[in-house]
Amino acid sequence: MIQSRLSLFTCLLACCAALMISGCSKKDGSAASNEQRFFNVGTGSQTGVYYPTGQSIAKLVNDKQAEYGVNLSVESTGGSVFNTNSLLSGDMDFGIVQSDIQYQAVKGEGSWKDKGPQEKLRAVFSIHPELVTLVTTEESGIKTLADLKGKRVNLDSPGSGTRPNAIAILKAVGIDYEKDIQAESLSAKEAPSLLQDDRIDAFFFTVAHPSGVLKEAAAGGRQIRFVPIDDPALDGLIKSSPYLARSHIPIQFYEQAANKEDVSTIGVKATLLTTSDTPDEVAYAITKEVFTNLESFKKLHEAYSVLTPESMLDALSAPIHPGAKKYFDEAGLSQP
Ligand code: GLU
Repeated sequence: MIQSRLSLFTCLLACCAALMISGCSKKDGSAASNEQRFFNVGTGSQTGVYYPTGQSIAKLVNDKQAEYGVNLSVESTGGSVFNTNSLLSGDMDFGIVQSDIQYQAVKGEGSWKDKGPQEKLRAVFSIHPELVTLVTTEESGIKTLADLKGKRVNLDSPGSGTRPNAIAILKAVGIDYEKDIQAESLSAKEAPSLLQDDRIDAFFFTVAHPSGVLKEAAAGGRQIRFVPIDDPALDGLIKSSPYLARSHIPIQFYEQAANKEDVSTIGVKATLLTTSDTPDEVAYAITKEVFTNLESFKKLHEAYSVLTPESMLDALSAPIHPGAKKYFDEAGLSQP
């Protein structure tokens, strides 16, 4: 009896040890090269630009599974703030995050004001420029930010990077989003049909152009108009916020819109973020595959056309991950 209990105990111990070893080999850098290790990347809604960006990066790395043993899967999420929090909780290994949101998390500002600086975050590289975009319909009569008062405005979901941009811009021009407008908190994916069905008057979306969401909004029966975000009252916000810069929405992508010229607004950048828990060789593999295939990567979306290896080291406020740094050193790219 004692004998059989002992052997059962030994067997359980052996099973636990085997499970622990296989658990470690999932992400531990020391795993044998023929083993597959699974990592995920948080993006945004499927009709945004983060999602196809995640897919493009994953394809490059997954095509080299035999070499790296890395399997990168893409998750559709609420956006930058959700991705950053998922990195910090360990639910996500990589995340696409707006440069201004990365800065806020690193400095302990914005959504991290109460929690303080988030020291675990590591930057991999930056990607395409994004623009704060405010869309309305011609029939709403909204032409300026001030005209939003009393209107139904979608600010995007709480996990998005769009929402803090919208709230900060409204505040800078004297609009309290809780009192002066009827604020909605729905995802950008839902916004075009809500606008076309006259259930909202306007929506914000911080995204690269051209964007599927905005093309969908422009293709509806109600003519859309992009509202300029150029009020002089925004100067203070831009000056006090690194990674916010004045920019223009290229109107050529949206022929059906009422605007006939490029529209002034504020821009940020999409960045790829991870944490200090990510093994060096995984961050290295991702960086190397994107940078050495940059010319073919750039053909995958018009928003990437401006990318250069040097520009992809801009707008990073978290320390560079050592795996990415190894590639930048090899390629002779100087880092911030
Ligand atoms: N910048 C947006 C956000 O973080 C997401 C944009 C996209 O999905 O392309 O909320």
